Amino acid sequence: MSSIDAIAGKPRILTGDTPTGQLHLGHWVGSVKRRVELQHSHDCYFIIANMHAYTTRLAKSEDIRRDSIAIVRDYLAMGIDPEKTTIFLQSEIPAIAELTFLFAMLLPFNRVMRNPTLKTEIEVKGLGESYSFGFPLYAVGQTADILAFRPVGVPVGEDQVPHLELTREVARRFNQIFCGVDEHAEDEDHSKLGGVFPIPHADVGVVGRLAGIDGINKMSKSLNNAIFVADDAKEVEKKVKKIFTGRQSPTEPGDINNVLFQYVRTFIKDEARVKELEEKYAKGDNIGDGHVKLEVAAAINELLAPMRERRAKYEGRDDLVLEILKAGCERANKVAEATLERVKAHANLVHWPRHVRYV
Ligand code: ATP
Ligand code: MG
Repeated sequence: MSSIDAIAGKPRILTGDTPTGQLHLGHWVGSVKRRVELQHSHDCYFIIANMHAYTTRLAKSEDIRRDSIAIVRDYLAMGIDPEKTTIFLQSEIPAIAELTFLFAMLLPFNRVMRNPTLKTEIEVKGLGESYSFGFPLYAVGQTADILAFRPVGVPVGEDQVPHLELTREVARRFNQIFCGVDEHAEDEDHSKLGGVFPIPHADVGVVGRLAGIDGINKMSKSLNNAIFVADDAKEVEKKVKKIFTGRQSPTEPGDINNVLFQYVRTFIKDEARVKELEEKYAKGDNIGDGHVKLEVAAAINELLAPMRERRAKYEGRDDLVLEILKAGCERANKVAEATLERVKAHANLVHWPRHVRYV
């Protein structure tokens, strides 16, 4: 690996979140838990994709700014260490915007529009026919968010796998068109064969799709069905009580594949207890949903308690969060600029030396 692929010999990963709200338990199980584990062994870049939030929150730019800071506060609460990782704002990295434009040429229009995650978002977010040109463009932009850092892995939830597939296609095409990598080359050989981009893989978390408390959609910050990591203990209990299963009585055999039992398996740590609850519930052995919900809420509160403690230090201290982001942007720009320099050299876009204020 060359020095721009890895700092101190550590493989690089990149992932992030859109500031369309605060972080919820889906983020924890789908991606952030994995990030907290990987920060010791990997060179980690975490992007706050604020430009992408403009696709659906154009008229609420103050909220995007507020949530960008809130998400970083959530990261810190969840145990991401800003000394070990680089947390940065998408809008402060000019190389990402430049790469987006070039990468848009590498993807057939219809290929972008076929992306099932975009289709689902258009449907569940009620975007109808009125979405902006920027909305599908964000899927292209995401390929640039990732490839600007040339990571080997991307820890994400299941819904992001189609986006990552687009990213892999862009990386392959760039390497083939501009770096002479053979079209039959194996993905893992691209760097060795002179490709600028390693072909990154999706690293899906322990639970790739946590359902929301509505029991229908995935837990999502924009769908009003989320338990947020910043919720207090009472709020968690209130929300867990709302989980809808449709079961009528404690003696009715229950479906252990319902949303409540996904939470049981995800958050109750004692495996023997999980098994016991599953058996009783499946039989309808006098076990009410209300009781199961109490145990689930207690388990979630146990998970969130240390996060609440860590968050306290940053509550009302946007200045501290902004300092972390600024330092992160400086580091991120160095890497993204180095990538862009190589991209431009390969794509015949160098006419004189480039100078960017961050570097
Ligand atoms: P939005 O509603 O604005 O799309 P979101 O809740 O889907 O927000 P994102 O910012 O789109 O959150 O996703 C950030 C990361 O968290 C992605 O890796 C995504 O796959 C993961 N993630 C989001 N929701 C879940 C979930 N319910 N289960 C597992 N992973 C999730
Ligand atoms: Mg999403």
